Amino acid sequence: ASRARSCRIQSSPDVADEPRLGEDLKSWLAFADQKVGEVATLATGLAEGRAAVADRLAESTAAVRSRAAAPGVVVPEVRERTAALTPADGERAPYAERAAAQQARLNLPPLPTTTIGSFPQTSEIRSTRAAWVRGELSDADYTAAMRAEIASTVALQEELGLDVLVHGEPERNDMVQYFAEQLDGFATTVNGWVQSYGSRCVRPPILWGDVSRPAPLTVEWTAYAASLTDKPVKGMLTGPVTILAWSFVRDDLPLGDTADQVALALRDEVTDLEAAGIGVVQVDEPALRELLPLRRAAHPGYLDWSVRSFRLSTAGADTATQVHTHLCYSEFGQVIGAIDGLDADVTSVEAARSRMEIVPELADAGYGRGIGPGVYDIHSPRVPSVDEVTDLVELAAKSIDPRLVWVNPDCGLKTRAYAETKESLANLVTAARTVRATL
Ligand code: GLN
Ligand code: ZN
Repeated sequence: ASRARSCRIQSSPDVADEPRLGEDLKSWLAFADQKVGEVATLATGLAEGRAAVADRLAESTAAVRSRAAAPGVVVPEVRERTAALTPADGERAPYAERAAAQQARLNLPPLPTTTIGSFPQTSEIRSTRAAWVRGELSDADYTAAMRAEIASTVALQEELGLDVLVHGEPERNDMVQYFAEQLDGFATTVNGWVQSYGSRCVRPPILWGDVSRPAPLTVEWTAYAASLTDKPVKGMLTGPVTILAWSFVRDDLPLGDTADQVALALRDEVTDLEAAGIGVVQVDEPALRELLPLRRAAHPGYLDWSVRSFRLSTAGADTATQVHTHLCYSEFGQVIGAIDGLDADVTSVEAARSRMEIVPELADAGYGRGIGPGVYDIHSPRVPSVDEVTDLVELAAKSIDPRLVWVNPDCGLKTRAYAETKESLANLVTAARTVRATL
């Protein structure tokens, strides 16, 4: 189930307790207390007739009308831009041309090593962010603290000998909320907690209007990381499908249209990252599979808009910019064609628990671009041995052209601690070098 849809009614009690939401927006929303009120209205109406609830029905109709006409709900510039899109906006140069240009720029060894983006979110990082949000830490002090964190993450990756580095995402509370907080068209709540898995909770953003990007979202942190190293640093974005899957979406515009709006905002971000000198950009779509409709008949329609919006967000990239994506589940059967359709230069996927099963499946389906099957499961603190990782890398390199294989963990490291992260990544690098030497 998606994060937003698994929301139980008691999770978000009363819209009146949401200080960040404007009065207009509040009048359009129903949290738990409002929903209970609506049920009571319906019950009264059924028992006593429409007249008994006429006031409340009129109030509801007025709210719907005010929403349709409110500024920000329909933004003409946003609508004009999506209306002008053509299939060419989702096309990049042929893969062979891209791969050559990227290799000339990045000069990576065979079996390049990388991570999925986040590094451990220590309690220190969390409390620094919380203090800043409460206004107890100045912007300057917050920025300095995050920069120090980024600098130590970059230094660690250099020491470990990873090939494509990341900034580590310390500034992100959540991979969707972080983007929604900065995009026009989204609102975020203070109390709207929803269980995502196990004991982990998130606050899904509320999408209420047309989406645009008032300012760059990630460029400063990424460019700072890149300024600290000669190795390539991978910019890290959350894809349009995942942003929508983990938000409360609007009911007055098809999801595919909204996805195009989000995609264009991300496309502009990719351009800005490139202008800041970033040569590798990852657009995460861990929710691509999750949003797949249950009914088979609905699959082609869904895959059409989801793949289109991903391509739209990435196809503005230069031929020499390497586009990565990350998908985060292990049953790929129904989306294997879509993975190819995304046209990313490199796709990292969860694979350790299934012992690289996805790699021959992709090879059989004719997939011929970079693939990073995860070599260890990040859900556990267990450190994989060098031999274990070496076996998996060898297995992958036997099932598909070894020139396509990347070596990376299954997913982001934010829930892990540094002790096991360092050991695991050290073993990963050793394993990659061992197999590299045999190629
Ligand atoms: N870049 C994100 C991270 O590393 C990806 C998370 C995910 O796949 N869910 O945390
Ligand atoms: Zn993942």
